[in-house]
Amino acid sequence: MTIALVGSTPVNVILEKEFAAAQMETITVKSNELQRVSGHIGDFRLQTLDGERRAGVIVVTEPPEAKLPGIGHALLDSDPVSHPHTKPVVLLMDYEQESRQFMTPVALELALFLARRRRTVFFLKRSVKTAGTDQERLYQEARGAGVVFVDYDQVQIAETDQGFAHVSAQDESQSLEIGPCSLIVAETIHPGKTGALADCLKLRRDRWGFIDEYKHYLYPVMTSRRGVYAIDTLRACCEPEYLEEAIAAVIGDSAEQLTADANLLYVELDKEKCAFCYTCYRACPHAALTPNQAEAVMEPWEEACFGCGICVSMCPANALQLTLEKPAQGASQSVQIFCCENSGDTAISRLQEDLAHEGLTVSQVSVTCGGEITVERLLQALRQYEKVIAAVCMDDACQHFDGNRRACAQTERAVSMLEAAGLEPGRIRFVQLSQGMPRLLHEEIREALL
Ligand code: SF4
Ligand code: SF4
Repeated sequence: MTIALVGSTPVNVILEKEFAAAQMETITVKSNELQRVSGHIGDFRLQTLDGERRAGVIVVTEPPEAKLPGIGHALLDSDPVSHPHTKPVVLLMDYEQESRQFMTPVALELALFLARRRRTVFFLKRSVKTAGTDQERLYQEARGAGVVFVDYDQVQIAETDQGFAHVSAQDESQSLEIGPCSLIVAETIHPGKTGALADCLKLRRDRWGFIDEYKHYLYPVMTSRRGVYAIDTLRACCEPEYLEEAIAAVIGDSAEQLTADANLLYVELDKEKCAFCYTCYRACPHAALTPNQAEAVMEPWEEACFGCGICVSMCPANALQLTLEKPAQGASQSVQIFCCENSGDTAISRLQEDLAHEGLTVSQVSVTCGGEITVERLLQALRQYEKVIAAVCMDDACQHFDGNRRACAQTERAVSMLEAAGLEPGRIRFVQLSQGMPRLLHEEIREALL
């Protein structure tokens, strides 16, 4: 399988090596060359400036734009790491929501480094993520080395004449004035090119504009689109263990998705009923519904839909339903018959004249054994045909051990899937016959179609 790495970063070299070890070929597509992406897991088509590239899986490696905790832009001259002066250092973690996870240990390590060099260090935080034993250890060590941790609600920064800062922080009951001091600001990450990439790949973004992978705690590389993963290569530079986890997650999840049952059910929308209330948009875990502002309706996106039915159950206007059919495909009054070559095949060949005379359209698929008739084949056939029939040998007549019994079990499973999705279960039929029983098959076809 081919993996398209979208984004050109030094981490790509590691990814290429690791994926090659897992028998996965990689191609690199520069993010500014990517024009459009279509298809689905197993068969993505990436339109680039140089033409079309194909891949089974896409991994976004373009990093967000960031400066790791660095010197505030106006205060470069007061570099607290190399400068010999002894002014206090303020590390400002000015996150309104939780910080991105990798930022906290980086800032803690820097605070510890400076404190051990006998600098006075204030660690000002509004909301930081501190989960993990490593972070707890760093926090304890930094406290032990004298770093002062301060929670605040409001902060004001003023620049002094010498290029230092004056920081004023307050919470509900107290205020703190520090200055002149060197200021290190951690809040400098922006989506950068990943924002445009997310739109091109139709990925959901979080409220700050980043690719929304953080809600998938078990698989932190997952995005809202199946087969598209995002590795935060900025974070990977600071956390080697994250990169290991990310690679394993891409390999594991893509293998699972590629061998899963085909995506057979899709959601369909009745535009007349849609109240454009966004309930389904907010509920869909796969970003498979897109608002069409011009027409004031939601638009389902078949290739991203998993057919989970969540939106169907939540739509207050009853405008959504699950379906197997693609619009405008196939004849509406036709049947596909899967025929075992030891029974149904011969039987149907004796019916051709009668069927033609009655104007019944029948598509025949021969199988060497009924065991080849699977749920996937039956449901795939329903995308084009109104009805599907499995015609296999009588009990104990299977020439391949138990193909007829397996065909029966697969048919029952497919019928129950239709029922669960609220679709007409009678669209799939099952008949057992011998070569000399064409009339039985004829009846089955007529009942199916008439
Ligand atoms: S939940 Fe139903 S009514 Fe609301 S936007 Fe979605 S389809 Fe339309
Ligand atoms: S069926 Fe599931 S995956 Fe498909 S649009 Fe509805 S909520 Fe999304």
